[in-house]
Amino acid sequence: MTLPIRWKIAFSTLVAITVGLLAAGWLALQSIERLELTRLEETLTSRTALAAVSLQPLIDTDSPPFSAPQLQSMVKTLSSHALARVTVIAPDGLVLADSDTANDAVTHLDNHRARPEVAQVLAGGRGTNIRLSATTGKRMFYLALPLRSSDERLIAIVRLALPMTALDARIREFEHALGVAFGIALAMAAVLSVVLSRGLTRPLSDMATVARQLAAGSLRQRIATTARDEIGVLGNALDHMADQLESIIREVTEDRAQLLAVLSSMAEGVMVLDCRGVVLQVNTALERILLIQSGTARGRTYQDVIRLQELDDLVTEVLETRVSRSGEVTTVPSGHTLHIEASVAGGRLENEACVVLVFHDVTAIRRLEKVRKDFVANVSHELRTPLTSIKGYVEALLDGIIKDHPDEALRFLHIILKQSDRLNLILDDLLQLSQIESGQVLFKREPVSLRSVVERTVALIQPILDKKNHRLTVSLPDVLPSVLGDEERLVQVLTNLLDNAVKYTPQGGTIVIAARHVDAIQTDTPSDLVELSVSDNGIGIPEADRPRVFERFYRVDKARSRELGGTGLGLAIVKHIVEGHGGQIWVEPNQPTGTRFVMTLAVEKRSN
Ligand code: ADP
Repeated sequence: MTLPIRWKIAFSTLVAITVGLLAAGWLALQSIERLELTRLEETLTSRTALAAVSLQPLIDTDSPPFSAPQLQSMVKTLSSHALARVTVIAPDGLVLADSDTANDAVTHLDNHRARPEVAQVLAGGRGTNIRLSATTGKRMFYLALPLRSSDERLIAIVRLALPMTALDARIREFEHALGVAFGIALAMAAVLSVVLSRGLTRPLSDMATVARQLAAGSLRQRIATTARDEIGVLGNALDHMADQLESIIREVTEDRAQLLAVLSSMAEGVMVLDCRGVVLQVNTALERILLIQSGTARGRTYQDVIRLQELDDLVTEVLETRVSRSGEVTTVPSGHTLHIEASVAGGRLENEACVVLVFHDVTAIRRLEKVRKDFVANVSHELRTPLTSIKGYVEALLDGIIKDHPDEALRFLHIILKQSDRLNLILDDLLQLSQIESGQVLFKREPVSLRSVVERTVALIQPILDKKNHRLTVSLPDVLPSVLGDEERLVQVLTNLLDNAVKYTPQGGTIVIAARHVDAIQTDTPSDLVELSVSDNGIGIPEADRPRVFERFYRVDKARSRELGGTGLGLAIVKHIVEGHGGQIWVEPNQPTGTRFVMTLAVEKRSN
């Protein structure tokens, strides 16, 4: 972890102060010690000089030069006055007298010639030295002066020695005082450096806090400093930067929101890829079309999201050639037909829009195109069949049958009439279908009694029912609410259904018309319904054909239908009319055999 700047300043200040104090203390100690030593030396010099003067008469005589006991006693006296050890040394280094040695032991003392202070005197001048005394075992300050005869000859060396104990004690005392002062100064310096560094770095740490909040996204934060120094300049620059950042981010966010709104409101699917084929953007329409789980596509490659060979080929080509292309794919398993426009976008790097894919769902268009083509083919075929037959018979008549075989010619003319009627029928049905589909036929919205619809239809259909010996059962409840609709059209619907039931049921069959009231709660619809069904025990419709019988021209058995006079348009018209009433119609197998057509119609709502 890095230390905050406040502590760095405090610590470095403290280290600098400590080093300064230590250096100052050491220098002070050195100079005090030097001062004390100089004073000691001065004192010792004057005392040694005095001692030398006192000893001069005793030593500066000849043969015998002096009496040793006398000298020894004198030395002891001088020592007691001078409060120092007094030693007299002969020029050859022999100790003549020493105040700290017993009288008889003086002669046993080492030769002092090599003692530094003695050596210095012998070299000319005076000698000083500080060392541990071999005799007393204490640290001593030695000062030696030459004692000369009147003719300047060295006759002895007088040495005074003072123990350093007092001086050392004074220095230690000073050291102690210095240590206390040092401690106090250091403590004060520590407190001051912490306080000062905090004062100095507070604006900086405030700035750091605001910068952190800005970085975390709270762009409203400002430093708002009043300082005019460098920190003030920095604070103002940061505030300015935050203003800029806020306005840029606002603009970018607005742009992005608009872009996303456009993308998500588009009916077309959109996918944006970078140069690696990684998905940068996908809109909800594409997620819906390709059944992609919402929000899971971004960051994955497009192959990962959509496994379609044609798409893979298209994108690979566009990425390689950098030329926009388009293509069409069919998705599995949903079976959607998608037209894809793959356009080159400007990006060339990772995470830059490189290819924009726009998916148009053309399934409905393609289906309509197919329906239209099938329809044209069917219509042509349906019209051509009777026309070919008419043409054939007319040609036969022209070839002379009228003259040669008048009976046969009459039969041909009947066939021509029948085929012309069929043509008429097909054209009528087609016209009606196209009018309903194009909304030209407006259905009335009146209360219609289904009982009356059933009665009118049965009256119409009765002759063909009787012709085929069918038994018709009408099973309507006593109370059946009216439905909303167009009575004439509903009669048309029921006529078609009954006509089919009669047609596709062999002689002596049973046809049942039934109705029941269904509560809205049961079917989860806004209003109650009436369910009307027409069942027969005829040839039935195979399961595979059932969903398609409502398509135009769809017939289970074309030949049989044609033979029975069917156009293949009846059920298509029925479905359009029922759905035009807001109802539904479907077909199911009848038990044990036959077919059951069921339709629902909304009950007329009565205001109480
Ligand atoms: P068509 O004029 O051929 O009867 P529709 O559109 O009325 O045409 O019916 C379409 C096809 O549905 C018929 O050709 C027939 O194969 C079948 N179909 C309709 N109603 C019945 C039914 N009640 N029983 C058996 N098949 C039926």
